[in-house]
Amino acid sequence: MTDESFRITETNRVRQVARRGSYDRDEVFRILDQAMVAIVAFSERNQPTAIPTLFGRRGDELLFHGSSKSRLMHVLVSGQPVCIATMMVDGIVLAKSLFHHSMNYRSAVVFGCGKRVEDETERSKVLQIITDKMLPGRWGDARLPNEQEMKATCVATVTIDLASAKVRTGGPIEDEADTTLHYWSGVLPLQISASKPIAADTRSNGIAIPSYLETWLSQFPLAGENR
Ligand SMILES: Cc1cc2nc3c(=O)[nH]c(=O)nc-3n(C[C@H](O)[C@H](O)[C@H](O)COP(=O)(O)OP(=O)(O)OC[C@H]3O[C@@H](n4cnc5c(N)ncnc54)[C@H](O)[C@@H]3O)c2cc1C
Repeated sequence: MTDESFRITETNRVRQVARRGSYDRDEVFRILDQAMVAIVAFSERNQPTAIPTLFGRRGDELLFHGSSKSRLMHVLVSGQPVCIATMMVDGIVLAKSLFHHSMNYRSAVVFGCGKRVEDETERSKVLQIITDKMLPGRWGDARLPNEQEMKATCVATVTIDLASAKVRTGGPIEDEADTTLHYWSGVLPLQISASKPIAADTRSNGIAIPSYLETWLSQFPLAGENR
């Protein structure tokens, strides 16, 4: 544990397979930055609910936006405690025994309370970070939100109070007695792939695919390749 780690409490202490857990800020941030969506969990009137949504990160803050009418946004600006989970699935782990089947993954769980972002300049900055997380460079290459659109948009931040990461890598765990069984075992690696961009019919006639989109795409294998 260093200063760069989140503090550990009974809320975020990884108990199950604790060796896979981490509280290292950089590790948690890396997972948060790679994940495309977050699942925000909250409880209202004794009814737990989990809602997937886009998000961004700025330092120790997670950033959210949505319709001013959205229940999720109402919850986030209310300041009540929320729990936010993100994950990337890296593979299906097939063991000789069904008991030891598993997945390879990188996941992060965050605890904190939200608040509304009021200041217009600040709201724009948050929207830019969320947009550029989805596709770096897009904020500067589309019409900016007008006054009416900004009014219809609620912006909230959640300061990370506690966090944990959990990562599973590697092959299947096998019981000694199972190793000679005649079942295939191993890992099916999985990763996100992308297809070629599809222009919006005639609306994109004569407009080149933006270079930032090409750059971003280059990190993913093209769907259908590698088989
Ligand atoms: C893609 C995927 C598939 C999974 N499939 C299964 C499955 O089928 N069965 C199963 O039992 N488990 C599965 N897990 C692991 C699961 O997320 C939990 O870690 C595990 O079930 C233990 O839960 P728990 O509440 O007992 O954990 P505890 O260790 O009691 O949780 C205590 C605290 O540890 C932290 N923590 C726990 N799990 C995670 C996590 N995944 N990421 C970050 N922090 C965490 C949280 O802060 C949590 O509050 C999967 C995980 C992923 C990402």
